[in-house]
Parts: sequence; C-alpha cells; structure tokens
Amino acid sequence: GADISARNIDTLSAHFPLCMQNLHRSLRRDAHLKHFGRLQYTLFLKGIGLNLEECLIFWRSAFHKITDDTFNKEYRYNVRHSYGDVGGDSNRRGGGYSPFSCQKILTEHPPGPGEAHGCPYRHFSLENLTALLQGVGITDRSVLNGVKEDKESQKFHMACNRCDPYSCYIVPLLLICGNRVFEHVHKNEIKKAKEESIMTSAQLETIVHPNEYFKRSYLLKN
Ligand code: SF4
Repeated sequence: GADISARNIDTLSAHFPLCMQNLHRSLRRDAHLKHFGRLQYTLFLKGIGLNLEECLIFWRSAFHKITDDTFNKEYRYNVRHSYGDVGGDSNRRGGGYSPFSCQKILTEHPPGPGEAHGCPYRHFSLENLTALLQGVGITDRSVLNGVKEDKESQKFHMACNRCDPYSCYIVPLLLICGNRVFEHVHKNEIKKAKEESIMTSAQLETIVHPNEYFKRSYLLKN
C-alpha cells in the first residue's frame, strides 16, 4: 500500500473513521483547525505511523494561509509536544501522548462553535450527521435510517437517570461506528476476509479506537 507520509494523507483519509474524516475535511476547507482538533488529529496521525517530520510538513502545508513565522511561533511546538519531542521528561520518555480512544473523544471536551473535534455520531445534530455521512459517500438509505435509530435510542437511554450516562452513551455510539457504517463500507472485503480467514471474527468486532478503525480498514483494502 501507500506509504504513510504527508502527501498521502488525502488518499489515506478514505480509511479514517468519521471523526477523523470530519477533521480532515474541516482542515482542507478552512486551512485551519482549532486547538483540540489539532490535538485529536495529530495524535491520530501519529498513531497511524506518520513520523514527526512528516507531521510537521503536513500541518505546515495544510495551514497555507499563514506565514512560516506564524506557524513556527504558534503551532510547531504543539505538534512536537504531541510526539514527545519537547516537553517534560515523562512526556519525552513516553514518546508523547497516546492517540485518543473513542471513550475519551466521546466524553471529554465536547466541541463548541467553530470546533471540529469530537465524535460526529455523538456531537452532531442528526441533520449535520446525515449530511456528513452523505458527504463521505454513505448514501444507502437503510444505513442512514439505522444511524438515525441508533442516535434516537441513545436519547432514550439518557432519559433514564438511574443509568450510568457514560456506558449508555458509549455503547450505542460505538455500535454505530464499529458495526453499521464500518460494515457497510467494507461489506465486500469483510466477506472475503472471513472466507479466506484473513481476519478472525473477533478482529472484525466492534471498534473502540479511531486508530483501530484505520488499521482494520487499511488491512481489508490493501
Ligand atoms: Fe471516531 Fe470512535 Fe466516534 Fe467512530 S465512534 S467516529 S472512531 S470517536
């Protein structure tokens, strides 16, 4: 397959889960992302194997409306920090921060106006979520209706105030991303992988991490 480098991110983004596709599309549209968007996306890109040098090239060229000077002053340090290239000793020893799990994305720092981070299944209105799914090529009515049902049943769970809001939130949402959309997008490859025993059923089960989504998608298509 393609190598993991700055110039291949557009191509590779077809394998990204919806949260990361949304960040990528926002970045291409605005030539900018706000702080938490940059953090969520940088750590994800690091997790797929983009090295620090390529990651800096990626961000520098993506932020094409600003000068080198502004980039170096305002953005370079944070990217290096995410990779553990600068910062405290423990951060450096650990190689920087880990890519965020779905749980973290779903439960911490909900996006405000003008921010593109978070999980679209949870943080978008149904209208915006449907538009985004259609924008990335998911037009199958039964899948879109299924996503709508998943989102609605999550509200039902929330109405029950004796239930733990975290587990009620996370489980149905992971099922949307991990099963419904992923399985739809990869239906032919999943069939083949099962037939040829390339992947076990366990490996094809629910996705709990954006980087896991990428790995499975990339493995199935390459
Ligand atoms: Fe991303 Fe996880 Fe949400 Fe899927 S469920 S869009 S991988 S945060």
